[in-house]
Amino acid sequence: MKKILIQAASLYTEQEVFDCGDLLIENGIITAFGKTPIKVEEDVEIIDGTQLSVLPGFIDGHIHGAKGADTMDATKQALATIASVLPEEGTTSFLATTMTQTHEQIAKALENIASYKGQDGEATLLGAHLEGPFIHKAKKGAQPEQYIVPGSIALFEHWQQLAKGKIKTVTLAPECDEDGLIPYLYEAGVNVSAGHTTANYEDMKSAISKGVRQLTHLANAMSGIHHRDVGAVGAAFLLDALRVEVIADEVHLAPEMLAISFKQIGSNRLILITDAMRAKLFPDGTYDLGGQGVHVKKNRATLADGTLAGSIVTMIDSVRNMMKIPEVTLIDVVKMTAVNPAKQLNVFDRKGSIQIGKDADLVIIDDELNIKYTICQGMIAYKE
Ligand SMILES: [Zn+2]
Repeated sequence: MKKILIQAASLYTEQEVFDCGDLLIENGIITAFGKTPIKVEEDVEIIDGTQLSVLPGFIDGHIHGAKGADTMDATKQALATIASVLPEEGTTSFLATTMTQTHEQIAKALENIASYKGQDGEATLLGAHLEGPFIHKAKKGAQPEQYIVPGSIALFEHWQQLAKGKIKTVTLAPECDEDGLIPYLYEAGVNVSAGHTTANYEDMKSAISKGVRQLTHLANAMSGIHHRDVGAVGAAFLLDALRVEVIADEVHLAPEMLAISFKQIGSNRLILITDAMRAKLFPDGTYDLGGQGVHVKKNRATLADGTLAGSIVTMIDSVRNMMKIPEVTLIDVVKMTAVNPAKQLNVFDRKGSIQIGKDADLVIIDDELNIKYTICQGMIAYKE
């Protein structure tokens, strides 16, 4: 594997931002960086980023599909399509996210994720995000109601076995867990995310005491703020134990709500996700999501009754939308797209920041937030 030297205008490392910095990649790993030029031998590929900013690659912890492919297709080709197209939007690793479907379909999707062998130069598949079926029918969103079941340790254990331990996040409704699944998952090191839930504020506090540490797509499929019960959204604002997923497509959350969320929650707890479905990067039309027709027009994906059904947003467009908020800086972006998701998924020892010894997962952008390069584990996976 060829060594790469990046000469950057701005280098967003874990400790500080360097104005003018060099970064060296060897064998897929960041081996050196600094303000002073790094001397190298001849057989090194040099990336001239002297007008550009170098950030850690984006980690999308909640994505169903892209470019015609969906996790629930349960094929190697579907995961390969998603993994190979994500670097175009700056994503260097992701969780393939399942839908509420039959037990057999979920099992197939998980087995497929477990057996997937990634290729060089594509985004890394970190594992699975199990969205449902342990959710509340009253907040089902686009998850098909007939397959919703109460929380079950036995069923989860069965799936986690098929997934070879690759289920990293579970979205569940805390009020539907009478089996002790939440403390079980917490003990097992799985990221427990409350979502598709009717939980009120007190329910959320109780859920946190059992091990919930995240909220799935803020304000969507959960109780909003009421002045006598601030609900799950109020819990996101007030309770520091929660990291909070946001879909920054300006459809799932109005631009004003993104600004309020940023002010209340801040970049130390927000996590940008796309929740994208297979129509991302495809023209408007009708697409399948969990056996249902989804109509995609402009930037909205909806079921026949108008329910939002995932997004078609990219990570870089989410970043652009967040950067419209005057207080948001690229340092905030690094936290919301890389540091926080890496910590939440227990991979911060090797991903999520620019640090010696970590995977060389990088996104290189210009001042207009255009992606010039995306590097996945030391390989140039996308170049404008
Ligand atoms: Zn989703």
